[in-house]
Amino acid sequence: MHCVNSGRWRRAVAVEERNPQIIPRSVSILGSTGSIGCNTLEIIQHHADIFTIEALTAYSNVERLVGQVKRFKPKLAVIGDHKKYQTLKEALSGTTTCVAAGREAIVEAASRPADWTMAAIVGAAGLEPTFAAIRRGKVVALANKECLVSAGNIMMEEVRAAGTTLLPVDSEHNAIFQVFDFESPESIEKIILTASGGPFRDMDRLVMAHVTPAQAVAHPNWNMGAKISVDSATLMNKGLELIEAHYLFGLGTAQIEILIHPQSVIHSMVAYVDGSVLAQLGAPDMRTPIAHVLGWPARISAPTTKLDFAKIGQLTFEPPDLNRFPAMRLASQALASGGGAPTILNAANEVAVQGFLSGAIGFLDIALVVEKTLDKLQGDSVGSLCDVRRVDLLSRCTAQGFVETA
Ligand code: NAD
Ligand code: MG
Repeated sequence: MHCVNSGRWRRAVAVEERNPQIIPRSVSILGSTGSIGCNTLEIIQHHADIFTIEALTAYSNVERLVGQVKRFKPKLAVIGDHKKYQTLKEALSGTTTCVAAGREAIVEAASRPADWTMAAIVGAAGLEPTFAAIRRGKVVALANKECLVSAGNIMMEEVRAAGTTLLPVDSEHNAIFQVFDFESPESIEKIILTASGGPFRDMDRLVMAHVTPAQAVAHPNWNMGAKISVDSATLMNKGLELIEAHYLFGLGTAQIEILIHPQSVIHSMVAYVDGSVLAQLGAPDMRTPIAHVLGWPARISAPTTKLDFAKIGQLTFEPPDLNRFPAMRLASQALASGGGAPTILNAANEVAVQGFLSGAIGFLDIALVVEKTLDKLQGDSVGSLCDVRRVDLLSRCTAQGFVETA
């Protein structure tokens, strides 16, 4: 078992123990207008004495980006959609912020000299910008799990080569990061990823066949972007997180357990060989893991609801049902198959989720489209970012075909 940069994590913690004040740092946020991006800016606003903003990027929500720029005064603001460039430029004329548009400009923003970068673009669209941030050899907080699923080995190799510190933002992986003994990984028996079970946890598949996008994005515990909300409803999110955990913590599937925990209070656990189980708990609020990675290795305050255990009363657990939620099984199989299978899984899922959100296919078709795409394309291998892009594109075309004929 290995853990990338665990030595670096250890060193930074040791420095922090001697000198616990927080060092001022410049920050870039890739995907600043999304759910993770906005939450990150909210924490930064609470600690304006520590953080300055280097760059903010968004795809199309120009109004929100303009508001963020006026409040946080980054050096650079980029909008992905060229059609929105003129609006951005006019709204920010007279400010000190440089503006740009397009994919290359987002990669350029990720390459700027920030001490700390939040990678919070949704989907494989975040691949090039996240890689650009990693190559700078500083700190990258990773929310964009699809990148790691799609290009796992290649991304971790870049992290090692650049000496980058990769901090997990996903609540489960952040929880494990907080309680994982990097000094003696051999003492770890397994990690336990918890899952809320999503809005359809108890629903029969006959009923699930007819759920609407509005029902699927209404998560019972978490407030998130549309794509990850649908992934949480199909449990593909937990499948993606299984693959994410594999790459981040260097564990095989036999050492990663998934457990349904409807209250979302325990965010994940590490089980040790002596029978001890260490867990991280908190309210289901992404501002906690975001504050953790923003302040790391120190702790900074976050305006979150604190847990009231007497009020919570009880915490419950149950095994996941892979028959009602086949997406999780597909993800596990893709990880076991290796090669390009996780890239195919991720791309097909992105297309299928989009198909469901636009009304082209039903909820149960999401996993079906992913399964058919995996069956048709399995075997492709990926050895470079170029390969990942090629397999990703092919998978998208294939999955789109299945969406259109579903
Ligand atoms: P979101 O949809 O709310 O925001 C996505 C951001 O990415 C927006 O700023 C958008 O402008 C930008 N974006 C979208 N398409 C783009 C493109 N083609 N090019 C450049 N930028 C683009 O998503 P989110 O919920 O904030 O999730 C972001 C990432 O974090 C996802 O990978 C998700 O799985 C992960 N994550 C989110 C949460 C959560 O609570 N929201 C929790 C854990 C992990
Ligand atoms: Mg998660």
